[in-house]
Amino acid sequence: MSLFENTLQQIKKAGEIANINQDLLMTMRSPEAIHKVNFNVRMDSGELKRFEGYRVQHNSLAGPYKGGLRYSENVDEDEVMALAAWMSIKCSVVGIPLGGGKGGVKVDTKKLSDSELERLTRGFVGSIYKFIGPSTDVPAPDMYTNPQIMAWATDEYMKLNDGKGLGTFTGKPVEFGGAMGRSTATADGAYFVMKDKIGDSLVDKSVAIQGFGNAGSVLAKLLDDAGVKIHAVSDSSGGVYSKDGLDIGLVDEFKENGGRLVDMKDYETITNEALLELEVDVLCLAALENVITEKNAKNIKADIIFELANGPVSSDADDILEERKIEVIPDILVNAGGVTVSYFEMVQNKQNNYWSAEETKEKLQKIMSDAYADVRSTHDDYKCSYREAAFIVAMKRLEEKFEIRSSM
Ligand code: NAD
Repeated sequence: MSLFENTLQQIKKAGEIANINQDLLMTMRSPEAIHKVNFNVRMDSGELKRFEGYRVQHNSLAGPYKGGLRYSENVDEDEVMALAAWMSIKCSVVGIPLGGGKGGVKVDTKKLSDSELERLTRGFVGSIYKFIGPSTDVPAPDMYTNPQIMAWATDEYMKLNDGKGLGTFTGKPVEFGGAMGRSTATADGAYFVMKDKIGDSLVDKSVAIQGFGNAGSVLAKLLDDAGVKIHAVSDSSGGVYSKDGLDIGLVDEFKENGGRLVDMKDYETITNEALLELEVDVLCLAALENVITEKNAKNIKADIIFELANGPVSSDADDILEERKIEVIPDILVNAGGVTVSYFEMVQNKQNNYWSAEETKEKLQKIMSDAYADVRSTHDDYKCSYREAAFIVAMKRLEEKFEIRSSM
């Protein structure tokens, strides 16, 4: 099953459980627009190379399309369509007035110099600028894109648009219209959901975290500061483990200095596969998609899984985990802090009025806690999984908008 088919399956299942409007379900089955572009970039060597890029606009019932730009060799139409549809759902779970979009360029950024990366970004924006804008479609960073890339993209867009359009991209550097707290927003949001779900006993839980990047490392610090014991963390090389709990400050310093976790001498090392199967209370997935599949789902020992990554648990694994009474708190809720603070950035750009980090965090906590409460009560009402509940919450919000707008 392709990634997009998998997403449609999730929408269909929620639709059946909650008896969602059939016309809306039909509408959600295909994106409103798919922009595929090919554009040239002059490499440092003087060679002219052609690149393939996408912007998929899935659904705009709730507002302008919103979703990241991914630079990766795996980018293709199916992946971007699936991620765009997830964004329509994710924005609706947290109730922000935005639709779903996603984009990307098929490229291995590790093979590009900084100036090639800048020319690639400007070239891509030149190809898609007519389809995007602060009130139509607002891209953001995703895998292998970052605030610097958003700054180049915004600068190029504004050059092509009479100097207007600062709010066309979010995740910009703070010096260029970015929101305070965007870099920690995904982990902050996940931490609020964890606190609401587990309550005061969170401090007594044992935790393992796969992925020690933007999302995973910030979550590790938040949990560590709260006194929670983290027994294992990993990066792409593997991980470190301690039965007494890791010193997260030490691990963070090691990573900041460019080390690979398997080379850290202070602790026992552990493979990424073994980390997933540790005897811990809570497993946080903050690396990649499809790390828990039908192959290892039966070996998972944690009681609860929080998905910070997009799609880390496959559909087959979902069924096995549910049977084994292991709760999975889904990506479309857990990692929605990122898009929520991106929405805050859009609002601030529009008003030309900027908030403090504290104000951002306070507003984020309210949105995440309200969303968790909605998902929790839907889970209780329908006696369904948290993933199904999150889809139902999102689909019901979209259904209200759909029915009010289309009475014919
Ligand atoms: P990142 O690139 O900063 O970090 C990714 C981490 O995963 C790194 O520690 C990397 O070493 C590790 N990793 C890579 N390959 C691995 C492998 N094979 N096994 C184990 N670990 C591996 O990325 P990020 O921004 O932290 O994003 C992580 C996940 O969270 C992605 O799925 C992303 O789509 C999702 N997400 C991130 C945000 C955000 O705002 N950062 C928002 C929503 C969703």
